[in-house]
Amino acid sequence: MRFRRTTLFATAVVAALVTAVPAAAAPSPEDRVSARFDALLANPDGLAEFLRAFPKGGDLHNHLSGAVSTESLIRYAVTDGLCVDKTTLTASYPPCTATQRPAADTGTDKAFYRAVLRAWSMEGFDPAGPESGHDHFFATFGKFSAATDRHKGDMLAEVAETALRQNQFYVETLISRQGSAVRALAASVGFNADFAVMRQKMLADGAMAKIVAAAKTDTDNDYAQFNAALKCGTPAASRACVFPARYDYQVGRATNPEIVFANLLLGFELGQVDGRYVGVNLVQPEDDPIALRDYHLHMTMVGFLHKLYPKTRITLHAGELTPELVPPADILFHIREAVEIAGAERIGHGVDVRHETNAAQLAREMAAKHVVVEAPLTSNAQILEVSGPAHPMRWYQRFGVPIALATDDPGVSRGDITGEYVRAVTEQHQTYRQLKQIARASLDHGFIQGASLWRAPDDFRPGPACAGSVLGGANPSQRCKQLLHDSPKAAVEWAQEAAFRAFED
Ligand SMILES: [Zn+2]
Repeated sequence: MRFRRTTLFATAVVAALVTAVPAAAAPSPEDRVSARFDALLANPDGLAEFLRAFPKGGDLHNHLSGAVSTESLIRYAVTDGLCVDKTTLTASYPPCTATQRPAADTGTDKAFYRAVLRAWSMEGFDPAGPESGHDHFFATFGKFSAATDRHKGDMLAEVAETALRQNQFYVETLISRQGSAVRALAASVGFNADFAVMRQKMLADGAMAKIVAAAKTDTDNDYAQFNAALKCGTPAASRACVFPARYDYQVGRATNPEIVFANLLLGFELGQVDGRYVGVNLVQPEDDPIALRDYHLHMTMVGFLHKLYPKTRITLHAGELTPELVPPADILFHIREAVEIAGAERIGHGVDVRHETNAAQLAREMAAKHVVVEAPLTSNAQILEVSGPAHPMRWYQRFGVPIALATDDPGVSRGDITGEYVRAVTEQHQTYRQLKQIARASLDHGFIQGASLWRAPDDFRPGPACAGSVLGGANPSQRCKQLLHDSPKAAVEWAQEAAFRAFED
């Protein structure tokens, strides 16, 4: 009884306060949705549905070949008449030998189809089996690679349509170009510890310029395929035809230093002359013996080239490691060197950060420099077996390091960006307002061209151009309209704010 009287009394006090100051007590649309979000925490289906509809910024860490569904890859293999090795399930060009089967057999033999699906992805992967998640995950790329060769435009179309369906506004996808030409040039020039000399030799006689031109032609051809796949320019055009996407040029790090350098040079050159390419990244398992041996060398190469090509932006896979994967000395410095020597503005993974020397100081430095961590939580769980409290996401946040959730290889991991946001809530205990912060950061740290909508990095209050306008509203001021017209980045940020308004309404 006493409890009940107290409740009644409290209700009366609240009612009086509401009557006295109605404006101050009225919850904002954000408050209301935040409360609804809190109520969904005990309801997994409801939470997933909520997060599917939630505006989820951009995907800044998305490998094109790992992003499309395995079903699409198998379809490409069948269309292209590829063969599949009976034992390794690796795809290759015809004619098929006695130890191979036509990929087309997947259409009639269900067991074969299942076997290919499992070999080319994490579908049905058994963590207790003989192969580690790390090894199975990374091995998929070599197995399905031949199926991707003629479908880069189809793949980009699938990535753009998926992003739209997932309520995202931007994708930066990772791709490499002209691999054999790059290797041939690297072999003819050879390694030189004087990077300026090595670069000049690679540029001499227009050798690199020829590769850049060929890479641009490849890109044009991919976009022609993209437009055809989405029926762009016809009455049946997909909305994804105009979806804002950019490429980051990815350089394999597990190979000879002259090849890494030539490939980096191509990436930096492309970023200078072709607006579809905005950044450079180093990829492949960071714990590979060559990647470990040359890590510092690679950072100095990136730092050297960045000074010559400042327009090309830098994001690096760094700290995708655990103490179980590498010798103790190799876990102490990768993220720091990516930030301090290579000049990375974004770090992919950053999972081992707490093992680095002076980790807290490094995190403070990253926060001060606004270096964002691209966090693919599913990939980290599958490859590194790091999740929940063992993942450093909340640790970073305590230091003010911005986080952008990403998918990494959603095709291989059989996931999507909604799944990343679900993990962020269920495993990293993010609040509704933190998720909004993450979604905004994932656009603002994108390398898409143009000025930001916001006044400063990681300060999500509008800058002077749009300060007087209703965020995401239908009638921005003239000055705000001008910014949205001139800046592709501000335009995608505004589109997300409009989506937040609709979502919270
Ligand atoms: Zn990655």
